[in-house]
Amino acid sequence: MERYDVAIIGAGVSGGVAAYILSKHMNVIVFEKYKLPRYKLCGGGITNKTISFLKSIGLDINKSLIESYINEIEIKIKNEKKVLKFKEPLGILTRRDLFDEYLIRKSEAEILDETKVLDVNICGNEVIIKTNRGEYKSRYLLGCDGATSLVKRKFFEMEKEIGVAAQIEIPITYKRIFIDFDVVKNGYAWIFPKRNFSSIGVGYIREYEKLPIKKVLENFLSSLGLSYEGLKIKVHPLPYFIGRKNVVYRRNICICGDAANLIDPVTGEGTFNAAYSAYLASKAILEGDLTLYEKYYLDTIYKEMKRASLIAKIFYQKKEFSKYLLLNTNFFEEMLNCICNDGRCYTRNYYINILKLIPLYIMSKIRI
Ligand SMILES: Cc1cc2nc3c(=O)[nH]c(=O)nc-3n(C[C@H](O)[C@H](O)[C@H](O)COP(=O)(O)OP(=O)(O)OC[C@H]3O[C@@H](n4cnc5c(N)ncnc54)[C@H](O)[C@@H]3O)c2cc1C
Repeated sequence: MERYDVAIIGAGVSGGVAAYILSKHMNVIVFEKYKLPRYKLCGGGITNKTISFLKSIGLDINKSLIESYINEIEIKIKNEKKVLKFKEPLGILTRRDLFDEYLIRKSEAEILDETKVLDVNICGNEVIIKTNRGEYKSRYLLGCDGATSLVKRKFFEMEKEIGVAAQIEIPITYKRIFIDFDVVKNGYAWIFPKRNFSSIGVGYIREYEKLPIKKVLENFLSSLGLSYEGLKIKVHPLPYFIGRKNVVYRRNICICGDAANLIDPVTGEGTFNAAYSAYLASKAILEGDLTLYEKYYLDTIYKEMKRASLIAKIFYQKKEFSKYLLLNTNFFEEMLNCICNDGRCYTRNYYINILKLIPLYIMSKIRI
């Protein structure tokens, strides 16, 4: 049985970042169950903060990966619409199959695609990984295996998965991104236009919707007058941040990205925290102490996402207030600029600034 320093399950964004960092110093193997490039159900929105972070660790994004830029967004809340235009793009839209393969191929790790991990066991100081191609041994294991993570199921407490998303890819293009907050109570529907097609989807917190998600998306497609005959709607869990506090590592095993439920509850963006958590876990492995992963995580992602959860509550549950902000203030422009450009956006001051707008909203209601 071959022995590695680090085994990574999953060749998504988190697996790609960890493989890139760790393979510079250690003997690393990556297991991916699908053949690369593998399809990943995703809107493909990659914000500037993710692009700059990847650049800061040496992963410069190739121009060929850019399908379009995020520079115009039409937003609809409570039947009112506004088009937000940005002088500088907030990020890019990409194809995740190509984007993720680009990241993983930048690493010096041994990559075994079409290799499904079937089981993992701890044996003394090592981890034994059983795959459909045989068994492997490793000092550390990184569960970068996404929303349905085997590593999470086996070694970590399972919290209730609260989010779900459905998406379809239709060969039609649009001038701008469209976000519709009226389709579901706690989430949104989207059109993300690429070069030759658009990703059209809906994502939300499950408990608020009665209809099956495919039906919700079908209704949205009908409202857009779109035919989707012969095309398939795909459904995938959306592991929003749910307050996972000190359980991102156990013994010599870490979980990162979707496996650790790190999707931003305000935007639904998962790629930034996938990349950043993989960086933090890799840093702790290189320092030889996994308790540091927990410390780094609590100081950064956890703090940010705790505040994001509060903001999401105000934003999604008080839609009249959100509509007021959209139509009467520059809040949305400023919020999107901040969220897409700054990895530490959800500060205490930011939260207080939203609260300060509430009296203005109440005054406007009294005037009406
Ligand atoms: C419909 C939808 C739209 C989204 N849109 C956006 C968006 O526009 N922007 C954004 O930032 N985020 C978006 N997200 C979230 C984003 O896709 C995820 O947060 C992100 O992909 C997480 O990356 P990851 O590396 O943690 O996991 P993943 O990208 O899911 O990678 C996990 C990998 O592990 C592999 N794997 C799993 N189990 C095994 C196993 N047993 N053996 C071997 N390999 C295994 C999988 O095949 C997969 O390749 C969206 C999500 C959905 C569902």
